[in-house]
Amino acid sequence: MAFEIKCSACSQPFSNLLNYKCTTCGQPLNVKLHFGFEIGKIRKKDYTVWRYAEFFPHVKKAEIITLGEGWTPLVKLSHNVYFKLESLNPTGSFKDRGSTLLISTLHELVKKAGGYISEDSSGNAGASIAAYAARAGLKAKIYVPENVSGPKFNQIQFYGAKVVKVSGSRSKVADEAQKSEEGKFYVGHILHPLFRDGIRSLAYEIAEQFEWLVPKRIYLPVSAGTLLLGVISGFKHLAKSGVIETMPKLVACQTRQVSPLYHKFKNLPYTIPERITSIADALVSVNPPLLDIMVKNLKEVEGDAVIVEEDEISTAFVELARKGFFVEPSSAIAYAAYKKQLKDGDISEDDKTVIILTGMGLKTMLKPN
Ligand SMILES: [Zn+2]
Repeated sequence: MAFEIKCSACSQPFSNLLNYKCTTCGQPLNVKLHFGFEIGKIRKKDYTVWRYAEFFPHVKKAEIITLGEGWTPLVKLSHNVYFKLESLNPTGSFKDRGSTLLISTLHELVKKAGGYISEDSSGNAGASIAAYAARAGLKAKIYVPENVSGPKFNQIQFYGAKVVKVSGSRSKVADEAQKSEEGKFYVGHILHPLFRDGIRSLAYEIAEQFEWLVPKRIYLPVSAGTLLLGVISGFKHLAKSGVIETMPKLVACQTRQVSPLYHKFKNLPYTIPERITSIADALVSVNPPLLDIMVKNLKEVEGDAVIVEEDEISTAFVELARKGFFVEPSSAIAYAAYKKQLKDGDISEDDKTVIILTGMGLKTMLKPN
């Protein structure tokens, strides 16, 4: 058996790839890999996520749905600091790595059942899933918060997905999306283990682009946790396979307002804000279902967590743009966190560092001063 899908809490195995949580205890599912990473098995002429197709055995190659995602540029900022431009994926964010994997694995199963997929999101994941569903000829229903607006919402609609507006909290939107309806298959990106699993490709890519000599530190924004957990899983796979000698230090970056991981990781109390007013509007998971799994994984790989203030986010956002990198404010928090640690003397400029820029600036609703 090349891989297994098991409950993260009670270890019950699941063979149906459509399952998104444990039917016994309700906890999230994980993908467990039972094979090593081999450099010789990379499809060298394929410059997408699918150059690593051999390491995603749950996908049938004839059923791959791709828009050319992955193999994003790694651009040098200064002598030893690099940006990984995930903002240049087909729908403008790293989520396309998860969507290509998820939709490639499931579209035939859903079509055979005469069904459609549902997802809850107001932003990047909704747009990404809608795009890959469109590419696969699959119907998609995206559940969004009632007050949603802006470029991401337009993008979801242009891809042809049906939009259902839900009033109330963000978790109410998720509940509605999961509610059983005839023909509906919920593939929510936060819970579905195959979405997270697609993000493994980002770790493979960073390692390969550095010729398997991984950076000392990687900064990445964290909200629901799919990016963090996917990247950890990829680097762990490479380390276990003996392809890389050391693990990079993964630095989870959060805003002061939305920082449940930072607080739990540091054993500090966290008070959920009444309203989220941060300009980092893609980071809204105040109570993420994967929180305990994130804390466990981040401790296991000896990672770190940092929070940044609103003024630090705006400064970093503008500074990036002035350097030619137009990203979402939510992406700029990783750069803000890097600058903060540098200023505090926690790290050195000489350390090989990667800052992941997750989403494109054209998605922001901010106006220039
Ligand atoms: Zn379970």
